[in-house]
Amino acid sequence: MIKQYLKIKEQYSDSILFFRLGDFYEMFFEDAHCASRELEITLTSRDGGKEERVPMCGVPYHAAETYISRLVEKGYKVAICEQVEDPKASKGIVKREVIRVITPGTILTGAFVEEKRNNYIIALNRENNCYGMAVVDIGTGLFMAAEFSGEYAVNSLLEEITRLQPSEAVIPYDLMNDNELDVFFRGHASITLSRCLEETFSYPSAREQLIENIGEENFNQTGLTEMAAAVGAAGGLLAYLKSTQKRSLNHLNTIKIYKPSLFMILDSSTRRNLELIKSLRDGSKRGSLLWVLDHTVTAMGARLLKTWLEQPLVNVQFINERLDAVAEFNADNFLRYDLKEVLSKLYDLERLTGRIAYGTANARDLYSLKVSLSVLPKIKEILSRANSQLLAKIARQIDPLTDLCDLLERAILENPPISVREGGIIKDGFSSEVDQLRTASRDGKSWVAGLEARERERTGIKSLKVGYNKVFGYYLEVTKTNLHLVPDEYIRKQTLANAERYITPELKEYENLILGAQDKLNQLEYQLFVDIRNMVAEKIPSIQKTAHAVSQADVLLAFAETALENKYCRPIVREDGLIKIKDGRHPVVERVLESGEFVPNDTVLNNSDSRLILITGPNMAGKSTYMRQVALIVLMAQVGSFVPADYAEVSVVDRIFTRVGAADDLAGGQSTFMVEMKECQVIVENATANSLVIMDEVGRGTSTYDGISIARALVEHINEVIRAKTLFSTHYHELTDLDSLSGVVNYTVAVREDGEDIVFLRKVIPGKADRSYGIHVARLAGIPEHILERAGNLLYSLESRNSSENQVAAGMEVGMKLREKCLPTETISVDLKEQENDAANHPVLSELAGLEILNMTPLQALNKLYELQTKVKHK
Ligand code: ADP
Repeated sequence: MIKQYLKIKEQYSDSILFFRLGDFYEMFFEDAHCASRELEITLTSRDGGKEERVPMCGVPYHAAETYISRLVEKGYKVAICEQVEDPKASKGIVKREVIRVITPGTILTGAFVEEKRNNYIIALNRENNCYGMAVVDIGTGLFMAAEFSGEYAVNSLLEEITRLQPSEAVIPYDLMNDNELDVFFRGHASITLSRCLEETFSYPSAREQLIENIGEENFNQTGLTEMAAAVGAAGGLLAYLKSTQKRSLNHLNTIKIYKPSLFMILDSSTRRNLELIKSLRDGSKRGSLLWVLDHTVTAMGARLLKTWLEQPLVNVQFINERLDAVAEFNADNFLRYDLKEVLSKLYDLERLTGRIAYGTANARDLYSLKVSLSVLPKIKEILSRANSQLLAKIARQIDPLTDLCDLLERAILENPPISVREGGIIKDGFSSEVDQLRTASRDGKSWVAGLEARERERTGIKSLKVGYNKVFGYYLEVTKTNLHLVPDEYIRKQTLANAERYITPELKEYENLILGAQDKLNQLEYQLFVDIRNMVAEKIPSIQKTAHAVSQADVLLAFAETALENKYCRPIVREDGLIKIKDGRHPVVERVLESGEFVPNDTVLNNSDSRLILITGPNMAGKSTYMRQVALIVLMAQVGSFVPADYAEVSVVDRIFTRVGAADDLAGGQSTFMVEMKECQVIVENATANSLVIMDEVGRGTSTYDGISIARALVEHINEVIRAKTLFSTHYHELTDLDSLSGVVNYTVAVREDGEDIVFLRKVIPGKADRSYGIHVARLAGIPEHILERAGNLLYSLESRNSSENQVAAGMEVGMKLREKCLPTETISVDLKEQENDAANHPVLSELAGLEILNMTPLQALNKLYELQTKVKHK
């Protein structure tokens, strides 16, 4: 029996084997020691046929479940080995088999599964630089897979594992050599590691496993065909589960592919509305956030900055890494100056590698590459002085490529021609063959150069010239007047109007030498150039990696420069929902205004009593500037930049939504209102409690009652159901009573009345606006005075009529009032003076005359009387 035990145990060496013996599960040898220790049960021994007795302990089978879960909770795996034939019917030793292996990730009872959370088992796989992860909750049938690639692949994978908190991870042997994974799992001892053979993770067998469960059609539809790393992980995990559970896992019949969130999501309308890369006004860079932040020195840095702005991070650790780097640049002037100076010598390494890879790079490109490579050691050295983690990492990633630089230094001449087939590329001393050919051609040329003087001397023809043209090669030219002096050995080649051209056998000999050498030289130089280009091409991955590292340094340096220039502060990045900004500014508007003109403003948003800020105030007061400023500060913080404020705490948001301005799509056949409502629909469908929502004047595109109703319903839904942090501006001051909802606060942008004018103070303060100042703003815009007067009158009579209507509608929906409450005082007093002589025209009298007293209750009548009296008193 012990022999049978050992044979089975051999196959389950990483598990504790529960070996069924009658009414007990027995454990032997090392397992017995371990189980007796962990479960506090008595260790005994039995005769094993040898001298030494076999250590043993056991648990009764009916109570086994608790013992098993206790072991599994401690991270062990338990293989249950049952008797698979009737002991009475069998001759000799009864047949036994492992019927299931219970592991932390596959246990269905016990503490792991009682908690209100999934019990995950994950599997990891790697295909080149892409990691695949599969996740299964065997209890619920949840089956998911994701892939991680790019710069942050490992980090985001580990981040996702930390988030999931799996109890078990299945990993092919070769992946355990991955240093970062190894360190991670050692630090996360609560995750039981199960190592598996690589074969089950290989694409063909993994694919087969997966298709067996989810079907081929499903496989093709879920986009798995493009995800080799994820397929390997998912198939490998299924194989592991099948081999341990020894049962059908039919419930794992659909797999969900998900994208782990690494970046803040920004839809295209938000990117446009926030003017990240280009301004809304004319589509140029000027006036965009990029314009303010772009202090990059290299083209690669400029491109990366753009990418970063469109992909803010959501992971606090990564954000802080960038902020630490910016802070270090900020504090260390030498570091900044030194780096900036060397960066300015860099050419566009990425574009150069592109041309090299395509085989279109010429010698000038190689020369530029050399110049760039030659500053890499210096860049690496400067960055190695830095203490912050990210800068140190960037320094490590820079491969100084000294060999390559040396080669180019030795081989390529300064300022080579654009053409690669006409020589002038390879330096003297690089190739002896090139040198020989050059000497030959040089000697020949100097012989020819000396020929003119020699022949003048010899023949006595003072005007004799040596020349060269493409058709005849080298020739001696003698003017007609000197023809009698031409020696016999000159062979005539060409006759011109007043001269003859000759050659001599010797001259032709040298000509052949020069031209032959030149031809060969050009060919040889071209060949050498191509060889060198190919050698460079082999180094492309290193160059690219280095280029990327350098561009990161460039962007971080740019953030530091911008921060110093504009007095930004380092944001404190949090995760608890608080956004607290002291004296925040709009990064672009403050730059456009004269210095000191921008009025800074505070903001507090949180998950409790200040979730939704409702901002009222006249047009032009600064509402949208304020809202965008908050969005931009949050975005900048998540990009890793300092922010335009005196102090800022920023909780990461998963997404910023904007509904601003009139993004008319008339060409696309959509009305302003339709565009507006579609943007709202996107927000309602997608926003979460971790999102930041900016809504500017929603409902403006339709009639007042419609607008107010829609705006109110949206505010209610976003505040109560979605619970996203929201800034909502409106000129419907009727909405300000929404502050009775918990989480909603009223802010207004202060204005000061100055006679008939208003002065915008640009200060956002708690409170509500009670009027719209529409006519004041119209006056500011230069609308003629008589039109403004007429508007004032109309407004007043509308007001009057409306207030009586309101009496009738008093019992209707609260907040359904007309928008303008009262006329600006100054305008009214002017009106009244003019109308003094015409008593019947007095608005109060005409209103009095219009009252239908018989239809009024005494209380309504009393209210009306009070209202009319107030109006007269205030005049
Ligand atoms: P609203 O959305 O209330 O109509 P805007 O936000 O469009 O107003 O602001 C109107 C103008 O006021 C802007 O173009 C800007 O020049 C100026 N402005 C806005 N906020 C400020 C501020 N905090 N400090 C100085 N000027 C500001």
